[in-house]
Amino acid sequence: MKTIPSLVAIIALAISSSVVAKTTVIHAGELLAVPGDKPLKEQTVVIKDGKIINVVKGYAEATKFGKNAQLIDLSDRFVMPGLMDMHVHLQGELSPSNDSEALRMSNADVAMKSTMFANKVLHAGFTTVRDLGANPEEIFALRDAIDKGWVNGPRVIAAGSMVAATGGHGDVDGMKAELIEKYTPKTICDGPYDCRRATRHAIKYGADIIKITSTGGVLSDTNTGTGQQMTDDELVEIVETAHGLGRKVTSHAHAAAGINAALRAGVDSIEHGSYADEESIRLFKENGAYLVPTLLAGDTVVNLAKNSNFMSDAIKAKAIRVGADMIANFKRSYEAGVNIAFGTDSGVSKHGINAREAVLMANAGMRNSDILKSATVNAADLIDMSASLGTIESGKIADIVAYDESPLKNIEALLDVDFVMKDGKVHKQK
Ligand SMILES: [Zn+2]
Repeated sequence: MKTIPSLVAIIALAISSSVVAKTTVIHAGELLAVPGDKPLKEQTVVIKDGKIINVVKGYAEATKFGKNAQLIDLSDRFVMPGLMDMHVHLQGELSPSNDSEALRMSNADVAMKSTMFANKVLHAGFTTVRDLGANPEEIFALRDAIDKGWVNGPRVIAAGSMVAATGGHGDVDGMKAELIEKYTPKTICDGPYDCRRATRHAIKYGADIIKITSTGGVLSDTNTGTGQQMTDDELVEIVETAHGLGRKVTSHAHAAAGINAALRAGVDSIEHGSYADEESIRLFKENGAYLVPTLLAGDTVVNLAKNSNFMSDAIKAKAIRVGADMIANFKRSYEAGVNIAFGTDSGVSKHGINAREAVLMANAGMRNSDILKSATVNAADLIDMSASLGTIESGKIADIVAYDESPLKNIEALLDVDFVMKDGKVHKQK
């Protein structure tokens, strides 16, 4: 049986090397090479071995770049860098059957299902995501399988299981005690030293980033509201430990006290930020931290609370309150100049409709050009990958999408992507 692993390795190598065409040349009718700048008409993008090697003015002939160079004609399209969603959960989707699925599905089932969600997200034009809370073994395997070209999906920056307080958001709830015991992740912690251990534990098993929950959450059925749940000393210890080990920290946070405590401790981003106040805005700007608004999650839970019957009354009440407040506070943070990175919390909403976040951001008053920047340049900065992602420039990874209308003019253009390339490989072409 010893030959099997090597055979697997050979097949994997064959797949990953066939992924990359030799040289590909794109004729872009309109090219937004650097979101934030103005788009340019009639440009040629040259791609080799998965990387962008040149961007030239006008439509250059493909054969100029090699006699087998392949031309992709997007001369009637708007071309831009692949979108990046900074908050997803690729292992599932919120539904009334979540409880029974937790009992019926094996970890392998969950991992297999997550490959379907990953594929949907990629086909929606999202070439990079941050997965902020999942069963660690399965999400790290998905991340690595995508990297190796075994399955198709966006590049995944994964947190694994969240570092959270006992009984807090991120811990298990809503089940009988024996099951709660069984499902409680090893990253649940109390007190600074225990949270230091939990942070190290997450990193030991493969976390790219540490996700914490400094406040309660809308979907926790613990009747503990959305106030601060992790203490200042825990937050400081987690951030110091994670940063020391080269990992960024992002905190789920709704109430201002929890947002501000996390920002004071030095987190790199805040998810949701529903009740950000003046002090939060000051701290965001002082630290250069990012807000990941997740308006789509707010919108989804408000709709579910009003139109479905599987949430408890406590969750419904929280959802309606937070969903509405989130929009007003996002608008205030944006107008005050807080760094914004695009993120949906997909998994709460369905996978593949991630671009709807952009429409909600526009409805809340964000300029289209800033929305596109939040999903490319800003997201790349947040994950420290500005050198390789976020723009279409020489030397960067060839993650490229195209639309039949300019999203700078009509943000809803993002809802229907015509062309998706990741690592130089075409995944969708209409
Ligand atoms: Zn989330």
